[in-house]
Amino acid sequence: MDILTNFIGGQQAAPANGQYLDNIEPATGQVYGQIPDSDKQDVDAAIAAAQRAFPAWRKIDAERRADILMAIAYGIEARLDELAEAEARDNGKPVSLARTVDIPRAATNFKFFAQASSQFSSESHGSTDTAINYTLRQPIGIVGCISPWNLPLYLFTWKIAPALAAGNCVLAKPSEVTPKTASILAEICQQAGLPDGVLNVLHGTGARVGAAICQHPQVKAISFTGGTVTGASIARTVAPEFKKLSLELGGKNPAIIFADCDFDNTVEQVFRACFANQGQICLCASRLYIEHSIYDRFKQALVDKAAALSPGDPLLPETQMGAMVSEPHMNKVKHYIRQAIDDGGQLLVGGEQVTVTGRCEQGYFLQPTIFEGLDNTAVCNQQEIFGPVVTLQPFDTEAQALALANDSDYGLASTVWTADLARAHRMAEQLETGIVWVNCWLLRDLRTPFGGMKQSGAGREGGLEAMRFFTEPRNVCIKYG
Ligand code: NAD
Repeated sequence: MDILTNFIGGQQAAPANGQYLDNIEPATGQVYGQIPDSDKQDVDAAIAAAQRAFPAWRKIDAERRADILMAIAYGIEARLDELAEAEARDNGKPVSLARTVDIPRAATNFKFFAQASSQFSSESHGSTDTAINYTLRQPIGIVGCISPWNLPLYLFTWKIAPALAAGNCVLAKPSEVTPKTASILAEICQQAGLPDGVLNVLHGTGARVGAAICQHPQVKAISFTGGTVTGASIARTVAPEFKKLSLELGGKNPAIIFADCDFDNTVEQVFRACFANQGQICLCASRLYIEHSIYDRFKQALVDKAAALSPGDPLLPETQMGAMVSEPHMNKVKHYIRQAIDDGGQLLVGGEQVTVTGRCEQGYFLQPTIFEGLDNTAVCNQQEIFGPVVTLQPFDTEAQALALANDSDYGLASTVWTADLARAHRMAEQLETGIVWVNCWLLRDLRTPFGGMKQSGAGREGGLEAMRFFTEPRNVCIKYG
């Protein structure tokens, strides 16, 4: 049995209340570990450690800070195999995906922000002949980073790295569903020379330890990635305290496929956008709008690919589709499949739970699932399913495609597939999403603003946006003469 601890003030620490939660491997349905069910007492201890660490960390030489963050990146790379297997076991994702995407990206997050910490500069405004203004950008102090289960270490480090790079001390809470790689990261940070108390990792539920982090008066900013309902609840908690808040929330992402697209490449990329990580990426496409003249051909190509993809043991290197993250989440996705059928949707492929023989017989596996025939107002075209379930709708004109795509409470990411450059620009300008990918999906440059509009969040992560979020600007005005 793998029993995890919190990481507070550079020490492994059991939860003060002595209580633990089970950690279940979704591919087998079996309990294989336990994690602290931490509460306010552990948050208080972490705050005390962070308060002790902050004065020295905020003043540390920028080059030394960058060296430590870079050493963390190398530490992640050195433990690639172990981290990839831990991620696959905790989350159900194929180990090949964890090894090629999740874990390398976690290392890149630290490299990127190590460089940012040594190169971050602030503004000056020498605009009049009476005075010059310059902006100090100072660390905020103690900040909270709360992340979800779908890209566990990838998103955990995407928050922690800029927070540390900007000179803050961090209380970080990984999802209770996928806790393991966060504990390994704590070890790596210590070995890399991160001073005690600068990063504190607290395990447990959102309602208990997550809420306690958000409520603590010494936590001055919260960076949160997760569901929209949770984000709204955190916003209600922190708004009266005027804490800085960054929210990366759910999505219902449209893919708009025009008849002039590069057909084979588009099928390939859109299929990946629909089903990568079992459809459990906030950026996954879930509403596919296909121009009428290629609708039947495109549909058939997707259905053929989906029929050929069957889930398997995430720990096997050849597996391309793994398990759903948990039984409750699988049941939620199954509920949406039933809803789509009740609403008159035609099931083109999938729709069933799958038994994977051998050690994974009790695991939570679903087939890739495609529906057509659902109106844009149908529940499955409006609510986030967050699983391997997508819907197809035909369109005739660009204006119609745009209207359908924008008819959503969410606004995270969209993709446009066309050879017409002018049309791509027109669509990009009018799509109500924080990210528009043209003829690609999930092609990332970490310098770009990342985040959503509408119910998909508030604020942006990435590059300078993140460094600005994790610093407090102070303007200084100096009169000449
Ligand atoms: P979730 O909202 O249930 O949980 C996310 C994290 O918040 C977990 O660590 C959880 O323990 C914690 N939490 C829950 N309640 C809390 C509270 N009251 N106070 C403080 N913390 C609390 O989300 P999830 O199910 O883990 O993740 C799936 C969701 O995340 C999906 O909606 C997905 O779209 C979204 N997501 C968004 C992005 C993005 O960048 N926009 C990226 C990945 C995932």
